[in-house]
Amino acid sequence: MKLPDFSKNIYLLLLQQQMGLLEIPPLPQVEFKRPVTMNRSAQVPNIEGMRVRRRLIERGIDTLVADLLPDPKSFLLYKGQRVAAYIRDQKYDSDIEREISRYYHLCDCLTLRHIRVYEKRRKYIATRRSDGFFKVNSIMGDNVSTGLVKLDLCPHCREILTYNAVYRHPFLLTDYFGVDEGHIPEMIEQIQEVVVEEAYLPNLDDLFREYRKVAGDKCQLCGVDCSDASSHDLLNLHFRDGNPARTESANLAILCHDCYSVQPGRHARPAPVKADLVRIDALRRDQGIISAAVFDYVTSHRR
Ligand SMILES: [Zn+2]
Ligand SMILES: [Zn+2]
Repeated sequence: MKLPDFSKNIYLLLLQQQMGLLEIPPLPQVEFKRPVTMNRSAQVPNIEGMRVRRRLIERGIDTLVADLLPDPKSFLLYKGQRVAAYIRDQKYDSDIEREISRYYHLCDCLTLRHIRVYEKRRKYIATRRSDGFFKVNSIMGDNVSTGLVKLDLCPHCREILTYNAVYRHPFLLTDYFGVDEGHIPEMIEQIQEVVVEEAYLPNLDDLFREYRKVAGDKCQLCGVDCSDASSHDLLNLHFRDGNPARTESANLAILCHDCYSVQPGRHARPAPVKADLVRIDALRRDQGIISAAVFDYVTSHRR
């Protein structure tokens, strides 16, 4: 009987390793990190604030009283900026309309609080126009004419301004708006989502998956290549000192079931399934790690 060529015999290699003549090569350390989305505050140009400011000065902005949030002194703010509020469509054929639309407001006065509650849908124009003239649509029946009209400061608002020592006669809107003229910051804080890498504690699946990758999906002893997804199950994560709590790379190895089964501590583990060992040997044969003769010899002796 012709004996197989034992010079290529990886079982001899395993024997050498068990005798301490051969070390399983070391694995590089894997950093276990995963992307985490975090909120970070950043300084960004206050584009929206500047845009609102420009529109308030140039054209005015259509708004509801609900959007005019007063500051602690009851001064009307639109998106944080002091504004005057007035009604653009002025209907001169109605006494009530005429009365409520002849004034502009600066404060959350009695009139505006009434509107807030009872006429929520009534449109106001928020503006920072400061010459006392307001662009209105004068409506008489079907006739509409648009032009600049001088409106008076609402008497209720004047009371609030007086109470806050802001009212002076003559009252100038330029002075009133001048207070927060430079109030809009060029940069504002914005919360942004950023993705950062965060270290995490790997579980056994993570360790096996990542160290299998760095081992090139190969057994570190016999070299059998299990990179085909259907062969991943033929590899094992081996703890060199038998302690699965020590997960640093120096204590880890990637071994096929066959090489794994002869490592110290094997008695504590279930014996490898024969069918798996045959699959490993078939891969070894196909990859030229063992000869066909060795394959035949070994598989006929597997129990
Ligand atoms: Zn008012
Ligand atoms: Zn192996």
